[in-house]
Amino acid sequence: MKSDPQNHQPVATSGRVVVVGSLNVDLVVGLVRMPAPGETVMGETLERHPGGKGLNQAVAAARLGARVSMIGSLGSDDSGVWLQGIVHEEGIDATRIITADGPSGTALIEVDATGMNRIVVIPGANAALTAADVTAAIAAMDDVAVVLTQGEIPLEAITAAMAAGRACGARTILNPAPVRDYPGSLLALVDFLVPNEHEAAHLSGLPTESLVDASEAARHFTGMGAPNAIITRGARGAVWVSPSSSGSIAAYRVSPVDTVAAGDAFCGGLAAALASGEPLPEALRWASAAGALATTIAGAVPSLPTRDAVEQLLASE
Ligand code: ADP
Repeated sequence: MKSDPQNHQPVATSGRVVVVGSLNVDLVVGLVRMPAPGETVMGETLERHPGGKGLNQAVAAARLGARVSMIGSLGSDDSGVWLQGIVHEEGIDATRIITADGPSGTALIEVDATGMNRIVVIPGANAALTAADVTAAIAAMDDVAVVLTQGEIPLEAITAAMAAGRACGARTILNPAPVRDYPGSLLALVDFLVPNEHEAAHLSGLPTESLVDASEAARHFTGMGAPNAIITRGARGAVWVSPSSSGSIAAYRVSPVDTVAAGDAFCGGLAAALASGEPLPEALRWASAAGALATTIAGAVPSLPTRDAVEQLLASE
């Protein structure tokens, strides 16, 4: 047990957070107007950013002080080498990231002068991650406290992540993003299901309007097999249901610049807090603070907050 110098409370020693998910390079082109089909236009700017929900969530958890291992698949291209370097810089264990022949996951993002965007995502190497890769990687790790995954890798890899997490006694978290058809057999392996409202409406089949009382949908998910459900609602905070209690948590008041990666910061924060032994209500405070802070800086990875920033926001309540 260590001691927290801020409030002299004991801080539980953290177990490992394993993030099983996508790694992408985001290529962002700024242009005056979108080309018509068959037309060529000149772009104004070109930027390259790290991305993918898996990488974002792994970085979010690592910046909050969690011991993070990432399981994923990079391509044999320059982007793969660049992304691997970023994983290292963030202090994330990359020994279980495999390399697949061909391109890394890539998002081609065009943004015109009005701010409208068009996005093409090529899964690339993310599509090569197999259930066997995931199962073997988790079985080889010690001290796994939390396994966190999302929807940007093959369904068999997602299912293997949740099953291997359960098998080693870890808590399993599924962020079902983007929307796709996740089978009920997968939800039965999930301890914490964390959709946003849009994903919650799709998964539950409930109309979005009925999510005004989002606890209704959260109850629906617990009925589907996940004992804990947390629905994030942007600036309206989040609602949660667990076997013994339920409630809502208001969003922290901040001045948002863009909301990119708010959900990823929330999920990474939740995983880091649960791995350090925080009970769910406290873990939700960390997650909400991380989500709120991510909206105050532009972009995905650059916006993910440090532990100091989260502690400051929590202390300001
Ligand atoms: P996603 O990015 O997956 O759509 P949300 O938009 O629901 O996820 O955001 C996740 C969490 O981040 C919210 O539950 C909230 O805690 C926090 N958050 C998002 N937007 C804001 C905001 N404008 N102000 C404060 N907190 C926010």
